[in-house]
Amino acid sequence: MNEYKLLLLPGDGIGPEVLDATMRVVGWYGHKGLPYQTEEALLGGAAIDATGRPDPDETFVKAIAADAVLMGSVGGPKWDGLPFAQRAERGLLRVRKDMGVYANLRPALCFDALKDASTLKPEIVAGLDILIVRELMGGVYFGEPKETTTLPDGQKRAVDSGVYTTSEIVRVCRVAFDMARLRGNKVHSAEKSNVMVTGVLWKEVITDLHKREYSDVELHHILADNAAMQLVRNPKQFDVLVTDNLFGDVLSDEAAQLTGSIGMLPSASLGDRKPNGLPSALYEPIHGSAPDIAGQGLANPIASILSFAMCLRYSFGLKDEAVRLEKAVDSVLAQGFRTGDIMQPGMTKVGTTAMTDAILKALDASA
Ligand code: NAD
Repeated sequence: MNEYKLLLLPGDGIGPEVLDATMRVVGWYGHKGLPYQTEEALLGGAAIDATGRPDPDETFVKAIAADAVLMGSVGGPKWDGLPFAQRAERGLLRVRKDMGVYANLRPALCFDALKDASTLKPEIVAGLDILIVRELMGGVYFGEPKETTTLPDGQKRAVDSGVYTTSEIVRVCRVAFDMARLRGNKVHSAEKSNVMVTGVLWKEVITDLHKREYSDVELHHILADNAAMQLVRNPKQFDVLVTDNLFGDVLSDEAAQLTGSIGMLPSASLGDRKPNGLPSALYEPIHGSAPDIAGQGLANPIASILSFAMCLRYSFGLKDEAVRLEKAVDSVLAQGFRTGDIMQPGMTKVGTTAMTDAILKALDASA
């Protein structure tokens, strides 16, 4: 079998720390026979420091050629003062766009050992397993015109344009239905069809797609504001929740809080399959570069490690190995190991390295 080509984009702040931890886990799978090679490239603040740009072209050439991209996180106060178009986060938007990854998958999974760490009552979150599918390449973050102008009376006027086409909606909704078939067979589609024409189109398109190709899957329509409310009222009613770029950004962060800590949540961004059968795929924790704890060995590596579990599942088709890794994380939490962000009374506080050591030990025990 050919070696999988992994591109590593460590980025900034805790990004390199959590990606190093993840690469120890990748190495474990390598010893067990997973064939892979790695390459590294610059993105975000690290790229600005080295090249003057947050998005060097070389990084995108490598990202498009890779079988899977594993990213840390980008950004931080050092680069916050730069003009909008040169900020570290622009590199992240470009990598998603250039790779054509239009479906962002964010599982919100509540590990039993952490049900008390959520701000919601344990009975509301225990056993929670939601998959949020967020459209990632369209909508108001990318629509044109996107500009700030000065009006004759001296005021400024800023415009962001929310734009969607039928094909953009179809491709991401298809991912949601396909995922639902592998899980609880239920999709909620969240939009604002009561006040937005993009919402009207979204609802029409998913209804039509459902009728044509996915009538075996349960489909519910929900207004995005109600979805926000239902996520904290009764989150277990959801299986797969599909929504646009803007609502997905907000709803997935809300779902993140249900599980206790942002340091626990992985993500996958997938595009079309390439000629070799593998999807364009970018895996990253949903957290940022956490400048407040960077460089101190305190970061929770689990979100990044679980992103690699998603890589095993969605890029390499190794579902059993993904489950093995998720179970290893579960058992480490059950043994009481906690990084600071998920620390609870009576548990053992550990840093990035010790948490990763524990996960590797649990993997050894499972092999
Ligand atoms: P953040 O996610 O970096 O941090 C929010 C809080 O969560 C902080 O207190 C941080 O210490 C904590 N935290 C985050 N990840 C953690 C982990 N793995 N372990 C333990 N604690 C963790 O969000 P922010 O502070 O709003 O943003 C910081 C920088 O990151 C900004 O420059 C922002 O633009 C950037 N950012 C990047 C991404 C990305 O690369 N995908 C995502 C969000 C924010």
